[in-house]
Amino acid sequence: MNQYATMQDAPAVPILCDLRSDTVTAPDAAMRAVMADAEVGDDVYGEDTTVNRLEAILAERLGKEAGLFLTSGTQSNLVAMLSHCARGEEIITGRGYHIWTYEAAGASVLGGIALDPQGVAQDGALEPDAIRAAIKEDDSHHPITRLLTLENTHNGMAVPLARCQAAVDVARAVDLSVHLDGARYFNAIEALGCAETDLADLFDTVSICLSKGLGAPVGSVLVGPRDLIDRARRWRKMLGGGTRQAGVLAAAGLHALDHNVTRLGEDRMRAERLGQVLSAYGDVTQATNMIFFTPKGGVTPALQQHMAAHGVRLSGATGTTRLVLHKDVTDEGLAAAISGFEAYFA
Ligand SMILES: *Cc1c(COP(=O)(O)O)cnc(C)c1O
Repeated sequence: MNQYATMQDAPAVPILCDLRSDTVTAPDAAMRAVMADAEVGDDVYGEDTTVNRLEAILAERLGKEAGLFLTSGTQSNLVAMLSHCARGEEIITGRGYHIWTYEAAGASVLGGIALDPQGVAQDGALEPDAIRAAIKEDDSHHPITRLLTLENTHNGMAVPLARCQAAVDVARAVDLSVHLDGARYFNAIEALGCAETDLADLFDTVSICLSKGLGAPVGSVLVGPRDLIDRARRWRKMLGGGTRQAGVLAAAGLHALDHNVTRLGEDRMRAERLGQVLSAYGDVTQATNMIFFTPKGGVTPALQQHMAAHGVRLSGATGTTRLVLHKDVTDEGLAAAISGFEAYFA
């Protein structure tokens, strides 16, 4: 049964709370208003002032020279990897990181780049020893190790700065470049309680999604050194990602940065609260805005149907469900989720 069949079978109850992902947020009225009013130009000509502003502002906030607006986090990570590495070169990353698991091996398919994934530690970090062992010596048998990529947050976990630093130090010792898949960069910053530049300072390039917890409909931004971002712009064009009056989308991103970063702590606190409720009914791991919940006996279609009847959408047909708190979960929606779970497990 696919997800659409599930939707069709679900009772006709208004959706109060969609906990499948923080990508399900809809642009609110204020965001739509700035999109409608956005000043635009042809971005392939470099003339979209709103896109230019978004790129410049995010680069500045993260202490980097330049930024590039891309259609998605996958495109942003791909363009970053293509800009850092040549054919026959290699990336060390995490097994379970998005770049390895969920990006269709784009860097290998399109760039002739090898990936050597390492096991991810309990806290979402890569172990320095594992990175050290994965770095290839200069030998014609091997690919040329060029780049380390980390992820923060990973499965909601904000990886401590010291753990990121330790991994990066191993890479820097042999002149590797380092990239951060910071799809939920600001969730990490909020949870770590550090300055926005503290995490970015460790990396050459950082990719940030505007369409996750920040509530924009589309877009990611890659920030880094000017020369690399210039190369990235060419790769983006080659991949068909050169867009024209994209200012209508960039305006949503700018609005998200102004209004939706400072509220991310609310999502974390709500996830803590829901996690506490659920811990009575099974195994719970909660970090930032995410909960991984395995009820005794596992998630079943019966649980999903029951919650759907309470207006609550859950992902994961069996086993563990990932619950994600976000901007469009209202107090009413959270209450519906809590009472729905309590009724089911009573
Ligand atoms: C969502 C996500 C991405 C990018 O996904 P898109 O759907 O292509 O925007 C990259 N990395 C992580 C960790 C993510 O969660």
